[in-house]
Amino acid sequence: MDGTLFDRWRRLIAVSDARESRPVFETFTGSELATIPIGEEPDVVAAVGRARRAQLAWSARPAAERAAILERFRALVLTHRDRIMDVVQAETGKARSGAQEEIMDLLLSARYYAKQGPRLLTPRREPGVFPLATKAVVRHQPKGVIGVIAPWNYPVALSVCDAIPALMAGNAVVVKPDSQTPFSVLAVVELLYEAGLPRELFAVVPGAGSVVGAAIVDNCDYLMFTGSTATGRRLAEQCGRRLIGISAELGGKNPMIITRGADLNAVARAAVRACFSNSGQLCMAIERIYVEKAVAEAFTAKFVAAVSAVTLGAAYDFGTDMGSLASADQLKAVAGHVDDAVAKGARVLAGGRARPDLGPYFYEPTVLTGVTDDMDCARAETFGPVVSIYPVADVEEAVARANDTEYGLNASVWAASKREGEAIAARLRCGTVNVDEAYGLGYASIAAPMGGMGVSGIGRRHGHDGLLKYTEPQTVATMRGLSLDPPFGLSNSLWQQAITPVIRLIQALPGR
Ligand code: NAD
Repeated sequence: MDGTLFDRWRRLIAVSDARESRPVFETFTGSELATIPIGEEPDVVAAVGRARRAQLAWSARPAAERAAILERFRALVLTHRDRIMDVVQAETGKARSGAQEEIMDLLLSARYYAKQGPRLLTPRREPGVFPLATKAVVRHQPKGVIGVIAPWNYPVALSVCDAIPALMAGNAVVVKPDSQTPFSVLAVVELLYEAGLPRELFAVVPGAGSVVGAAIVDNCDYLMFTGSTATGRRLAEQCGRRLIGISAELGGKNPMIITRGADLNAVARAAVRACFSNSGQLCMAIERIYVEKAVAEAFTAKFVAAVSAVTLGAAYDFGTDMGSLASADQLKAVAGHVDDAVAKGARVLAGGRARPDLGPYFYEPTVLTGVTDDMDCARAETFGPVVSIYPVADVEEAVARANDTEYGLNASVWAASKREGEAIAARLRCGTVNVDEAYGLGYASIAAPMGGMGVSGIGRRHGHDGLLKYTEPQTVATMRGLSLDPPFGLSNSLWQQAITPVIRLIQALPGR
């Protein structure tokens, strides 16, 4: 990539010039791409202060003006999508198709919140306690400064896309990208500024989680966090101590259920995407497949054939299906889960090895059988291209085993009919279920909430919830020509006697 781009993006960060710089690497090769200064606590404090001042003017602007900036931003993303995909691939090592998902998410989020935001934020009339004589209006005030702490796996979608509704609602945003992926975020934030977003309103502070992340939690008014369950727990505690809200999108151990009537060709194709998109480093990726015994052998044969045809490689175009893992740590964790399973008796049906011939962190898409509960990959999130197949007696066993986890993020169901699939979906304890699809449908249904149950998270992104969580509802109740005090010098007890039948009458009115 053109080195001058990195120089330009580096100038956008909200970090003092005096700070130490660290290298950012190209994942496909392990070579240095550029350096980035690493923020410290005072950088966060200063950025939040500037954001807080800018937020006052921003929230006073009509919602339609804020929406117009999001529409301009959307057009700029379309124009510059190749450049964004290049930098996302460079920092994460994902395949081009994975980088394209980030573009799609930006376009969907910007359009949805630009169109729906003004309506959702319009003050809402509710019945007052006394019809006609009183009124109640619910307004949505912005929280103030929203902190966003993002992971490396979808660096753009899980930072800027979560910031879009926060901005729409009239907030300022301070983002901490993962240290591995700061330029992906900056390349997109540059377009927000170009679209007309005031610079001080949106700050990017790269740096360590324990320093910059912690300072964001200590200074923001609400936290949007995406990352591991372990970090999510810690941050929720920190937010709890400050009595600020948190939306946390965390890990998953996502199941797929296949019943005997499913179209096995379609499932085998989709299961490849479900398990190996973004090299399996996807919170919604499928890591457990429960298939009815009657069709287990046929499904496994089709699936293994489809997995063996997956093309793996480093390419800044759509020529390969799967890219690299993101880092040496990821490679170690993934290989560790597979090696542990094999040592304890699991069988590798496809993949199962690193591919240093392709790049330092490549690992083949891997299918295991014979996985038992004592193996690390049985219950813990692998967060890599590893899936286990479990034949089950029937749907009852499939549902029970799918739910037998502390996670509850996503599931995929394939059955003889849509009706059967939807009935199974209703019995699953997870935030999204894709019927006859892998994962993308649940995520891309942008008007519907997305998030986790159990230790997969609290709060939701997307839809109404994804916008209104960044606001404080305020009820403004107005008295019109009546008083709640006793009139004409009546005693309190006489006033109570007089008013009780009126209240009974009001409660009998339709809609009360
Ligand atoms: P992580 O929790 O290690 O890091 C996420 C972010 O938190 C990073 O920016 C990191 O610097 C920061 N951080 C770490 N410790 C911190 C601390 N003490 N204080 C403040 N900030 C801190 O997660 P990761 O390894 O980057 O991401 C992978 C995990 O994210 C997986 O578990 C995956 O399932 C999950 N994830 C969930 C979703 C979802 O929508 N549910 C989406 C993507 C990823």
